[in-house]
Amino acid sequence: MQGGLCSVCGERLVSPLAFRDAQDEPRCGLCRRLDQPFARAAAYGSYETGLRDLIHMLKYQHVRPAAGVLGRMLAEVVASLQAGWGDARLLVVPVPLFPAKLRQRGFNQAELIARAGLKLSPSRERYLLCGNLLERTRDTQSQTGLTPHQRRANLRGAFRVKDREQVSGREVLLVDDVFTTGATASECARVLRRAGATRVWVATVARTLKAEVQAVHFQPQESDSELTMAAHG
Ligand SMILES: [Zn+2]
Repeated sequence: MQGGLCSVCGERLVSPLAFRDAQDEPRCGLCRRLDQPFARAAAYGSYETGLRDLIHMLKYQHVRPAAGVLGRMLAEVVASLQAGWGDARLLVVPVPLFPAKLRQRGFNQAELIARAGLKLSPSRERYLLCGNLLERTRDTQSQTGLTPHQRRANLRGAFRVKDREQVSGREVLLVDDVFTTGATASECARVLRRAGATRVWVATVARTLKAEVQAVHFQPQESDSELTMAAHG
């Protein structure tokens, strides 16, 4: 995803004459109006260009080797974010699933991808993978048809930091498979910051870019497609 992207959230910029911040970096309208709780979010590529199939293969068909491929992509994203980090070890936090969902799927795809990605990273001693640091306390699967603003509201109070002491004063790298409207990443980052994280970075394999978001609203929700998969399988 080269050129024309927001320097904070990675959204595609519609106007080439985008607003630029004090560091002369381009920002999208949302990041211009909103002080994002994360320092920067980056993705390997657009969700609608084959990454979607690969992610579905892992999540719904449970083809575990797909995590290795996705992890390799994530490692590139991590490398692209590294320049902004301090010297201390980073806590790597996969976006958690609601416990019932985790039991149903048997694994958290974000954690598998993070694990695979860090294994491939040349500076892996810099990271500490914390799969249980953040927990999802509320099931928030029905994001379908919600506006970005409603999605954010729907996620309020859905995540909790289990061990605030571990987060306090640390930089965190939040990992997920896909960044859709950014509502999930923002809420996780907000909760982590409130628990004392100095900065939160977001690395995802895929990102839904503008003009695709509209389409996503009309797609079946994760749980629906999982049911569809189960029915077909
Ligand atoms: Zn932005």
